[in-house]
Amino acid sequence: MADLDVTPELLRRYDRPVPRYTSYPTADRFTPAFTAASYRAALARADERADEPLGLYLHLPFCRAQCAYCGCAMVASSDPERLTDYLERLLLEVDRVVAQLPRRRRVAEIQLGGGTPNMYSPAELARLLAHLRRHFTLTPGAEVAIEVDPREASASIVGELRAAGFTRISFGVQDTDDDVQHAIGRVQHLDKTREVVEAARAHGFESVNIDLIYGLPKQSRATFERTLEQALALAPDRVALFSFAYIPEQRKNQIRIVRDDMPNADDKLAIFCDARRAFVAAGYVPIGMDHFAKPGDELARALSEGTLNRTFQGYTVSHATDILGFGMSAIGEVGGAYAQNEKNVRAYNQRIDEGALPIVRGVELSADDELRRFVIRALMCRFVIDDATLERRFGVTLAGALPDALERLHPLVGEGLATVAPGRVEVTPLGRLFVRNVAAAFDGYLQQGEGKVPYSRAV
Ligand code: SF4
Repeated sequence: MADLDVTPELLRRYDRPVPRYTSYPTADRFTPAFTAASYRAALARADERADEPLGLYLHLPFCRAQCAYCGCAMVASSDPERLTDYLERLLLEVDRVVAQLPRRRRVAEIQLGGGTPNMYSPAELARLLAHLRRHFTLTPGAEVAIEVDPREASASIVGELRAAGFTRISFGVQDTDDDVQHAIGRVQHLDKTREVVEAARAHGFESVNIDLIYGLPKQSRATFERTLEQALALAPDRVALFSFAYIPEQRKNQIRIVRDDMPNADDKLAIFCDARRAFVAAGYVPIGMDHFAKPGDELARALSEGTLNRTFQGYTVSHATDILGFGMSAIGEVGGAYAQNEKNVRAYNQRIDEGALPIVRGVELSADDELRRFVIRALMCRFVIDDATLERRFGVTLAGALPDALERLHPLVGEGLATVAPGRVEVTPLGRLFVRNVAAAFDGYLQQGEGKVPYSRAV
């Protein structure tokens, strides 16, 4: 397999900080010049496309305690009063945004992320869904997804979530090894994971996902091989295999991780390659760089039909053309702009209490941003972009509109990571491991060297 061709030299050259491109421009380009008034204008633009479906993302940030590896916008609390106070504000924010969208009410995708959304009871989550259904009309086959921490769940809770209307469920597993679990401050017994996964299947969830993380402390090829065996035995429909970003200088909770316990870059890549091989051998289709899906899963079908998309929620099959973000730190993609809410829960609650839209920053996309975003998404999702596609959509060609990017691709072509033919750029099988680096050649901002926020490493 092509990933065996990765030499230590290649790894050293390309395993460097690059954006994950869940957005373009990337979130570190958002500015406070984008205000609630800018958001209202973006919502008005989005409202003009009344027939196009929306996506909704709702952030439920609470967790019982913070894991040592956590990189999420979360709040460590299980205080029922705090949880209820936040939920009430979230419903108010939905009302406030909906008031700006008198015509645009069709929804193709709802996603609840966190934090741990299932810190809320199924009844509270059902209330949230009912509130959304009062305002919006779900399109036939709309996906209603939730991230669930098995440690806070049970078979009966999973059944209640299905009854409430969730169709896709994603379980955090990360790693099943005892030593790794202790090193990351997240102890989760395999029996519990098995219980909830089996319940999800028994209750008819359309897709059951699990998340794994490679590059964690105490992880080795041998320990992760066992994790992979156990993960495959769960037979998930999809697996997200995330790279752990160890950045204790930015994430104070990661100080709890012992630096000497971290696998080195070569080991980390070997763990990733082992995992990729194991999933492919088990019949899973690789999606982008870090997702795998059973051939019958919608994500795999979207890949073969060329409709795969990439948003802040990662790889998605969603046909939503605008995504509304609700809750603390949530990011929306609306009317040609990105908009982010207050990142602190108290500030978020306060802005809602003041009657405001809790936007804290964002960015309006220029025509150049739109073009580059389209190309970066195509490369991240389908590993190819050509002139015919660009001409249809933007009336431009690669050489005519993005000569700077083609220039920057030269060394990557030399390394065998991409091919450039007249009117066509393609990521090679080897280059798929470094697709973020290939995409970065098209990033107009990265080249200006203005970034102050270090990104996670490519592998
Ligand atoms: S469960 Fe997830 S969001 Fe919560 S602290 Fe752990 S890693 Fe962070």
